[in-house]
Amino acid sequence: MRERSKVALLFCDSYDSDQVYRKIKKGMELLGGWEKLIEKDEKILLKPNLVRKAPVERPVITHPSIVEATARLLREEGYEKIGCGDSCGVGSAAKVMEETGMDAILDRYHITMEDFNQGTQTGEFVLADPVRESDALINLCKMKTHALERVTGGVKNLYGCVSGLHKAQGHTKYSNADSFARMLIRLNMEIKPRLCIMDGIVAMDGNGPTSGDPITMNVILMSTDPVAADSVFCHLVHLDPEMVPTNVHGQKMGLGFWEKEKICILTEEGEISMEEAVEKYGNKDYNVDRRKVRATMWNQLDFLMKPFQKKPYILTDKCRKCGVCVESCPVEGKALSFEKGRNNPPVYHYRKCIRCFCCQEMCPFQAIGVR
Ligand code: SF4
Ligand code: SF4
Repeated sequence: MRERSKVALLFCDSYDSDQVYRKIKKGMELLGGWEKLIEKDEKILLKPNLVRKAPVERPVITHPSIVEATARLLREEGYEKIGCGDSCGVGSAAKVMEETGMDAILDRYHITMEDFNQGTQTGEFVLADPVRESDALINLCKMKTHALERVTGGVKNLYGCVSGLHKAQGHTKYSNADSFARMLIRLNMEIKPRLCIMDGIVAMDGNGPTSGDPITMNVILMSTDPVAADSVFCHLVHLDPEMVPTNVHGQKMGLGFWEKEKICILTEEGEISMEEAVEKYGNKDYNVDRRKVRATMWNQLDFLMKPFQKKPYILTDKCRKCGVCVESCPVEGKALSFEKGRNNPPVYHYRKCIRCFCCQEMCPFQAIGVR
């Protein structure tokens, strides 16, 4: 039987770069050290969540200090071949990095900015070439809510490894939470990330993953098991981890563990139970969908209950008619359009809509809600 998955839980109450550096360093000690995970001559790829351009204060992307601390530690450990990149939903990762100061960090630590726009078919997926060409991927994810999967943390962040437009095709192919989750697990198993570092210092709740609200969680989670890291995230926000399809399928398909008996939580003060972790570091005010749906029913409910499913809608007072949502819709013929002209917000055609929530994720003005 496999050992329990270790999750390092570090209390961290600011993005001060030295503090974040000390915490991630400690986390690596708790997990057994870098050399256990990555050989010195291996090519490393840092994969932050850079979903789209947003001010650093809004918790849309992985905070640059997490990237900086990881880069600094890797350099100190003597790793030489390090790159960093992501495939954005809108715009380019290079632009996101420039606007957040991440580009200067990469320069300081001689890290290559990688372009994820070119990809190559690798098994089932068109993986961005830098992902395919790296030996060891380090997943620098962000703690956020997600309209389809309830939360996005370690497992979901790797969807950005699928090159450019192929991500949109994935949404039409895997159009419900259950099938999308299974695809994400297969993707993680294809890429085999070596480590997951989750930025939960200031997380996002509510209308995430890009239009939600900042909420202080003051934690960094680190694990070689992205399912276990996501499960701890769920516990901390009082969400039953079994309600998250990526957790359930992640364990069933052998990627990792979501059940608390199979997770060992390590802190600077020693090992603690899940109950102690929730008591000490949890936040029940985190706004997330906690409704219970039986795991075995996800598929059937999706098919039978489409009219009652969550659906996106436009907050007309916030809409600037930019059209990003229409461009982002992966459905052929589009499930929303400017049918009332460009001076009015787009209109949804719900019969066509597959509820992938790409429009809600990509709206730059937080003008799409989910009900
Ligand atoms: S809903 Fe958002 S993305 Fe769509 S047009 Fe309005 S502001 Fe732009
Ligand atoms: S309208 Fe939005 S939720 Fe519906 S299919 Fe298009 S992008 Fe997805």
